[in-house]
Amino acid sequence: MITKVRPHLSPNERLLFERSSPGKTAYQLPELDVPAVDPRGALGAENVRASIEGFPEVSEVEALRHFTRLSTWNYAIDYGMYPLGSCTMKYNPRVNELVARLDGLAWAHPYQPEALAQGAMEIMARLEAALAEITGMDAVTLQPAAGAHAELTGILLIRALLEKRGNPRRRILIPDSAHGTNPASAVIAGYAVEHVPSNPGGTLDLEVLHRIVDQDVAALMVTNPNTLGVFEHDIIQAAEILHAKGALLYMDGANMNALMGIARPGDFGVDALHLNLHKTFSTPHGGGGPGAGPVAVKKALEPFLPTPRLKRSGKKWAWDDKRKLSIGRVRAFYGNFGVLVRALAYILAHGGPGLRNVTLDAVLNANYIRHQLEPHFDLPYPAPNMHEVVFSDSRQAKRGIHTGDIAKRLIDYGFHPYTVSFPLIVHGALMIEPTETEGKHELDQFIDALISIAKEVETDPELVRTAPHGTRTTRVDEVTAARKPVLRWKPE
Ligand SMILES: *Cc1c(COP(=O)(O)O)cnc(C)c1O
Repeated sequence: MITKVRPHLSPNERLLFERSSPGKTAYQLPELDVPAVDPRGALGAENVRASIEGFPEVSEVEALRHFTRLSTWNYAIDYGMYPLGSCTMKYNPRVNELVARLDGLAWAHPYQPEALAQGAMEIMARLEAALAEITGMDAVTLQPAAGAHAELTGILLIRALLEKRGNPRRRILIPDSAHGTNPASAVIAGYAVEHVPSNPGGTLDLEVLHRIVDQDVAALMVTNPNTLGVFEHDIIQAAEILHAKGALLYMDGANMNALMGIARPGDFGVDALHLNLHKTFSTPHGGGGPGAGPVAVKKALEPFLPTPRLKRSGKKWAWDDKRKLSIGRVRAFYGNFGVLVRALAYILAHGGPGLRNVTLDAVLNANYIRHQLEPHFDLPYPAPNMHEVVFSDSRQAKRGIHTGDIAKRLIDYGFHPYTVSFPLIVHGALMIEPTETEGKHELDQFIDALISIAKEVETDPELVRTAPHGTRTTRVDEVTAARKPVLRWKPE
């Protein structure tokens, strides 16, 4: 039984406010040797305050240690494996951070004249070309700031094309194994969502599609591989059914680390898709951004892409914002440039064979975990999985232990929990995505932890039901914490 409190999880860190004692400061400046200026005159008296009520007065080392200690209470990818399914919490090579911080890139300003931004524009043009090649599509926009934002952009592009053809149509079809953001994006783009049940294997049901695709369907939004981690093997036939009725195929490609270098969506009938650079292409995420969700499209959708577009004018790059059919801007300026730089650096460092290896390793790792854990956890959809694997808690539920309890117990073993209770198509889901960056040693430790917990469920279910035991707090009221967060310290 693991109950020992790890030293970095010390419950003893006091608030900075409580450490405060009058007169302590973090710095000392030399005596003023130039004429003093009255800040009230320079800034206006209303902008100058003499003191801030309750502001903590501490020394430099106290402030530094306080925040360093707090940072160790957080779980991080730099600390250990982060097996959140669907999220691709992989380790990102530090060298790409270095590249993104190069002075000329980090200090580039979006209002810089074109003549002085040629390098930045070249980076964006090369990234567009690389992503088009990886996906097998014809054109790419880098503007959207995240996956869900990209979905909205993609559906607006589809709407614009269908409108131009005479009728935007009313419905978007979404399988029950799609990512949760898909229906929200379709609704914001003005469509009614129709859920499509999967077949017993957990993939697209062609008979259902045959029946429901008609002239009123704008598109099918399919997550591929889907949230079960399963490749949609009938995707070509699905595209044919849609295209025969004038509908389009949108692919949620946030999980491109299961496909790149092996299969190209453009080759299996996809008309538009997005990528999450903050998942597959080397931008750390999980802390709220920034991210980037480029959208890649086939030729027919290109005229509608957001403005401005890069265009070649002689030997120079220029911005083209005179595009009559464009859906307009979806974001200020040109996207999250730093994220784009990291992605291009990552792609160029790997090259084609390297990206292919990323995919092979991601799929190998997930299948290793599946193989080792299958004797201990129920696997509701036994179809071959790719980069993630989804178990259910049905065996443990017989002893009153659910996926959330197992996840909490995993924290005691030093791991971030997997994704709990998602996808919805699996009751009591344990959704595990190891990513390609974990080595065998880490995977084995993770597997051992879950097997050990499965045994605890048999011998001492109470221990699991009340976990975690080695953390500062144990079961917190997550709903109230999210709905009514207390973010301000009030002096007593
Ligand atoms: C993460 C994810 C999204 C949403 O991406 P955000 O950048 O969080 O908006 C959409 N679809 C899939 C399959 C994902 O994994």
